[in-house]
Amino acid sequence: MDCVFCDILAGKIPSAKLLETESLYAFLDIAPANKGHALIIPRTHCQDILGVDPKIGEDLLSTMQRIARAIVNVTGAKGFNIIQNNGRVAGQEVDHLHWHIIPRFDRAEMPLWKQGKYESMDEMMRLATTIKLQI
Ligand code: AMP
Repeated sequence: MDCVFCDILAGKIPSAKLLETESLYAFLDIAPANKGHALIIPRTHCQDILGVDPKIGEDLLSTMQRIARAIVNVTGAKGFNIIQNNGRVAGQEVDHLHWHIIPRFDRAEMPLWKQGKYESMDEMMRLATTIKLQI
């Protein structure tokens, strides 16, 4: 299987490593939205968030906190985004699950999404009910 992030984990492709844990690897994104933009990936390959073992949750949150604190300290960012894309339509280009940590300096530099609306409160409530039945 051809996977650029598996090649990074295997040391076949160089990366600007930040941290390794039992289940995760963190490194700088090669084409940063802002300098300091980092990626966290699971060591075990899976395509997206639906395929990962939820047991990595504690390691993931603690790694996110450690990386984000360090990036903010070093870059002087005023905030940061944590973004995780699933599927091409959602902007996923690399098919190995990853979380982006992006330092932010100015809200206007990167609008995240255009806010939409429901036709009515009833429409929103009906959709919530339908989704709840699938959980
Ligand atoms: P996504 O669009 O969510 O799949 O993000 C994939 C990210 O991986 C992009 O931001 C790329 O810049 C980044 N990327 C791709 N190849 C490499 C690499 N060899 N080293 C570091 N980052 C990479």
